[in-house]
Amino acid sequence: MNTKHNFGAGPCVLPASVLQQAANAVLNWNNLGLSILEVSHRSSDFENVISKTELLVRELLQVPDHYSILFMQGGASTQFSMLPMNFLKGRGKACYLDTGFFAQKAIREALLFGEANIVNSSADKAYSYIPEDYLVDKDAAYLHCTSNNTIEGTEMFQFPHTSIPLVCDMSSDIFSRVINVEDFDLIYAGAQKNMGPAGMTLVIVKDKFLERIDQVLPAMSDYRIFKEHGSLYNTPPVFSIYVAMLNMTWLKDQGGVTVIEQRNIEKAEMLYTEIDRNSLFYGMAQGKHRSRMNVTFSMYNQQQESSFLDFVEQYGIVGIRGYRTVGGFRASLYNALSIESVIELVKAMRDFEHIYVNLDALHVNSANNG
Ligand SMILES: *Cc1c(COP(=O)(O)O)cnc(C)c1O
Repeated sequence: MNTKHNFGAGPCVLPASVLQQAANAVLNWNNLGLSILEVSHRSSDFENVISKTELLVRELLQVPDHYSILFMQGGASTQFSMLPMNFLKGRGKACYLDTGFFAQKAIREALLFGEANIVNSSADKAYSYIPEDYLVDKDAAYLHCTSNNTIEGTEMFQFPHTSIPLVCDMSSDIFSRVINVEDFDLIYAGAQKNMGPAGMTLVIVKDKFLERIDQVLPAMSDYRIFKEHGSLYNTPPVFSIYVAMLNMTWLKDQGGVTVIEQRNIEKAEMLYTEIDRNSLFYGMAQGKHRSRMNVTFSMYNQQQESSFLDFVEQYGIVGIRGYRTVGGFRASLYNALSIESVIELVKAMRDFEHIYVNLDALHVNSANNG
């Protein structure tokens, strides 16, 4: 079994019970004498999986009936182009809130289909905050935002209220906290951050918003096709959807999103408290915009960073190296990461401080004596 404290940003940690059920299903699923990897996506057994997964999404996020749930592929990155292909092309412009690396990628793809007006950006301060004031063009096709900036470690705790449709990339914080789906016209998220293994991309879309599409599109890039065919126009990522279903069932058993949100707050507070207390570390995101899912931090003495990465190995801690362009550390605290794992990371930070502060004292002493 999995014995590490996995703080990786994605693919993410999954509950041990989910991994066990997934492993069983790979060998013999539902006592069918077949592996989940071998069954037809048109079988009634799999149709049950897809409809149960949809019901779980609806229940966990309280998705109203006038929204459709689509299971797509290509990751959130495909949504970056599919969204403007469906809604921006031929309409002139869309608005984008530029809060980091993934928002930038979404903007670059939008530019292939029209204008992307950047309503505000936090690039001036290395994306360490979420800009809070912006004017939205009333003629724009939609406003796009990113609820959690996985690389920079910032999170939106308030969403824009605007008269134009609101679209949100929720890849790295969906199911981690309560949201009001009705605030959005379209939500998308890749599975591998907080839902399950990579492969499936979840789209939650208001039916009225879909009615705005008036283009002829390639079938696999047309949201309407996925809706019409109940996400079974072609072969969906069967295993990814199946494990997401197991994971959502786990989440429901935990008490659902309200319960997990409290636990996520507790985990994040515990880690940020240590970052602020510890004399060797500092947080990279500004106070009120600090993400609960991806905690980014650095060391005052950058030369100690690689020693700290080596040091945490003895605690079984993996996946805390910061993104290559950002540096420092990033501890991802997705739903399945236990509080025990956070306690272990805090302990490693304290022990490391202890050693280094004592070492520094030794150096000062020997310098004084010499
Ligand atoms: C990981 C991530 C993406 C990219 O997801 P893929 O599924 O790898 O395409 C996009 N947006 C956010 C916020 C992410 O965290």
